[in-house]
Amino acid sequence: MRLNVPGIASHFLRSRITKVCVAIAGSTPAEMIEKASSVVKETPFLEFRLDYLEKPLLALPRFRQFFADNTVATGIATCRRVANGGKFAGSLAAELEVITKCAAAGFHLVDLELESAESLRKGDLQKLRDTGIGLLISHHDFTGTRDLDSIFTRIEAFHPDFIKVVPTARALVDNLTLIRFLERMNDHSNIIGICMGDAGIISRVLGVRAGSAFTFAAATLGEETGPGQIAARTLIETYRIEQVDAATKVYGVAGNPIRSSLSPIMMNTAFRRETVNAVYLALQTTRLSDLLKLVHEIPIQGISVTMPLKQEILSHLERTDPLSARIGACNTVLRAQDGKLYGFNTDVAGITGPLEKRMPLAGARILVLGAGGAARAAVFGLREKGASVFILNRTAETAQKLARQSGSKTIRLEALAKTPFDAIVNATPVGMAGNKAAPLLEAKDLNTKLVFDLVYNPLETPLIHLARQLSIPYITGIEMFVHQGARQFEIWTGKPAPEEEMFRVVLHALRRQAEADAAEAAASKPEAKPAARPKSEAKPKPSTKPVAKPPTKPKSEAKSKPSAKSPAKHAARPPVKTAAKPQSKAKPPAKPAAGKSAAKAKK
Ligand code: NAP
Repeated sequence: MRLNVPGIASHFLRSRITKVCVAIAGSTPAEMIEKASSVVKETPFLEFRLDYLEKPLLALPRFRQFFADNTVATGIATCRRVANGGKFAGSLAAELEVITKCAAAGFHLVDLELESAESLRKGDLQKLRDTGIGLLISHHDFTGTRDLDSIFTRIEAFHPDFIKVVPTARALVDNLTLIRFLERMNDHSNIIGICMGDAGIISRVLGVRAGSAFTFAAATLGEETGPGQIAARTLIETYRIEQVDAATKVYGVAGNPIRSSLSPIMMNTAFRRETVNAVYLALQTTRLSDLLKLVHEIPIQGISVTMPLKQEILSHLERTDPLSARIGACNTVLRAQDGKLYGFNTDVAGITGPLEKRMPLAGARILVLGAGGAARAAVFGLREKGASVFILNRTAETAQKLARQSGSKTIRLEALAKTPFDAIVNATPVGMAGNKAAPLLEAKDLNTKLVFDLVYNPLETPLIHLARQLSIPYITGIEMFVHQGARQFEIWTGKPAPEEEMFRVVLHALRRQAEADAAEAAASKPEAKPAARPKSEAKPKPSTKPVAKPPTKPKSEAKSKPSAKSPAKHAARPPVKTAAKPQSKAKPPAKPAAGKSAAKAKK
């Protein structure tokens, strides 16, 4: 039996390939070649999904020209049949005809599904190999993650140049099954392992870390050819896939939904900026047991915890800081060297920090709208700083309960116009993109020196818009988001967080999202489009909304401190400048309160 030792073709191929192979799909050869041409300079390793074409055979001369024009490109040809999860409606013989002609069209590898390989006559497979093209045999399981070793054995029997095993992750732990499989196979350098699905997103990075020869990426967001695929640029720039190795520490944001979370772009930017060999992933799960298994077995060094796990995780922590215990929620977990988990709540600092930069909180009168998770962080955090807190909530009983627990007062909507506040904090989802609820407050209710809306999408919420119209200084929710993330970074790494940079990327991502949404809305109303615009103007214009601007210069720690003597100074700035202005605050990492175990009852 032939040993699984890479042949000359494999060595040659391996010297050409990168860790990311970009999947190119399109309904016409011209569309695919246009996409490939725009990608190839940055990422020369491409998979052409020939099965997306109506007549792939006829398209081969176009691809031959592409490879002649782009000698740097390494191409995989895939013509997966419908029965195996692809789009090619032809027979096995028709698939074979296409892929047998791929070597002459300049392709370097063909991807043949295991089911097809097993159905082919030996002579047919030999004919394919005789063309000199490299052979990648793949297996896709669209329903779950099963016995990967037996799939490997079935594929290995064909002695291909590459073995691709692609199960579907139904839970985070399925990624562990794949990672352990890749680790067991670490004497083979020709295996590709990926889990499909949202829960499998992390495998696209952790698979490479565990020894996968490479991984697949979409050309751009929205052009995915597999469930859970990440855009190539995100994989390369945000996750720094080319630098990920066995020593790379793993962090992540856990909860549901998590796919559109801005935390990965913010935290990976911070790691890159501070040259920390770490990667921060989106951990899609609703089950704490699923998350905890991954945390202990990968291991994961730190987690940002979001809904619905913020409360439930408390009883699984060795210790939490006393404020998290009183709030009853933890948004930050640190895995110490002894493997024990420690909890913190940086949402509190995310709210009190930006306010403290503008006013002293001791004695300040602050109205908090809402009595849910974010409101609890606000109320307890503000009370701890000595503020006098008033709570207004849709459900009066919840407000009363929170007021009792925290030593605050409740207030009725009708009383607002006559009651002056130093700040009003919105901790409800009212104003959030997609939330159709009517604004909670009118102009007459904004009897305040400052408005802080924790909602950060859209950048200018109706409440912020109203504050701006009334010339009331305001803080947007991005500042909270960045501030709580910066504190997490410091807890995990012990380094000051690059807060300015974190703010910049989050703002940029939100602006791009706003532009994309606006372009989509415009596209759905064709009559609103200007006719025959010159090509140079065809791009969506940057938003002209008066939203928060990123600071232009990094500020030192000393400068970022709030001025206790001149509290009104910050609050009285012109609104646009006052809005969402993060300032770096290089604090040492917080430590869990020694001996003040709040959630020790381990389950
Ligand atoms: P939550 O636990 O679900 O609490 C929501 C609160 O808002 C509850 O008090 C609820 O009142 C109230 N509410 C919901 N819909 C309402 C409506 N239509 N009218 C009036 N009140 C309404 O949510 P959360 O975790 O506290 O988050 C609240 C918001 O804060 C989020 O939507 C998010 O935008 C923002 N947030 C921002 C950050 C950040 O980093 N910037 C972080 C966390 C949260 P009831 O008690 O009557 O249900």
